[in-house]
Amino acid sequence: MADPELSIVVPVYNEEPGLAALFARLYPALDALATPYEVIFVNDGSRDASAALLREQFQRRPDVTRIVLFNANYGQHMAVIAGFERCRGERVVTLDADLQNPPEEIGKLLAAMDAGHDYVGGVRRQREDSWWRKAASRAMNRLRERLTRITMTDQGCMLRAYSRDIVAAVAASSEVATFIPALAYTYAAKPTEVEVAHEERAAGESKYSLYKLIRLNFDLITGFSLVPLQLFSMFGMLVSALSLATYLVVIGYRVFFAEWRGAINALWDRDILAFLLIGMLLFGLGLVGEYVGRIYQQVRQRPRYTVRAVLESDGAAAPPATAGAPPQAPGP
Ligand code: UDP
Ligand code: MG
Repeated sequence: MADPELSIVVPVYNEEPGLAALFARLYPALDALATPYEVIFVNDGSRDASAALLREQFQRRPDVTRIVLFNANYGQHMAVIAGFERCRGERVVTLDADLQNPPEEIGKLLAAMDAGHDYVGGVRRQREDSWWRKAASRAMNRLRERLTRITMTDQGCMLRAYSRDIVAAVAASSEVATFIPALAYTYAAKPTEVEVAHEERAAGESKYSLYKLIRLNFDLITGFSLVPLQLFSMFGMLVSALSLATYLVVIGYRVFFAEWRGAINALWDRDILAFLLIGMLLFGLGLVGEYVGRIYQQVRQRPRYTVRAVLESDGAAAPPATAGAPPQAPGP
């Protein structure tokens, strides 16, 4: 397989019910672009028949299909990294496997790249998800906008195109828990966005539980900003200053105006204050834990994922258990 112009990276986790429909739409859409392409499916440790279906698809279109099979579930973003580490195209497009990102829209992203952009983010015109997902992601978008330097309209949209250079930089970054659209953005020289369509999940269910979504958003915020920690120390300073002031006032009144004590006591409800401050303290401790956890994962230097097999046409399946590149020095 000569180096293709375009690489499509698709993470797949338990997508058995929808894969046939994906193949049926993705390949014709790519053929229609009339550019040499490859599709890399990364099976993220699916427990259903996804791996078998991908294998069949590889046999059907070995010229343009490559399959990376993880030995376990490492998460969508790790799967995309594995695709990035192996793709050969000058331009790389990421896409969800559930057809929520219509493959027919890829051309729009490429047109923006033709115009000289090295990073093209998709913005879902009309998002077809549950109301609580939309509300939560609007709130997270706003928070990210304030806390990080990353500017994007729709961080949750995975239909995005990246230049070879950005993909190489992302692949070389040794982050263990990351958020690809944001990480890639930090390497982009001329980013832009285009509107793309969005569809309801074709089959199967979302792979993100509320818990996984919360984890993902911690990756996004704590992975790209120290502001939460810094806010915490600012808050700590403010609270200490306030409590010192309150203390002085209370003592002053007690000494000079003993008869006011009733009013001050009413204001000074220790239970409520203690409750509030303990809550803040626990949250702060948890926040510190988020960062310490990231440092811990990073210093262990374990492979970020392990690959069981790679299917590609220029040779037999790669030997089993090749490890993903272990974390090295920070990327550019
Ligand atoms: N995915 C994955 N590993 C995971 C979770 C999800 O590879 O641990 C893939 C999934 O198969 C899909 C994409 O990531 O191709 C987006 O997942 P999903 O559609 O469930 O997320 P949502 O659209 O609900 O945000
Ligand atoms: Mg989806």
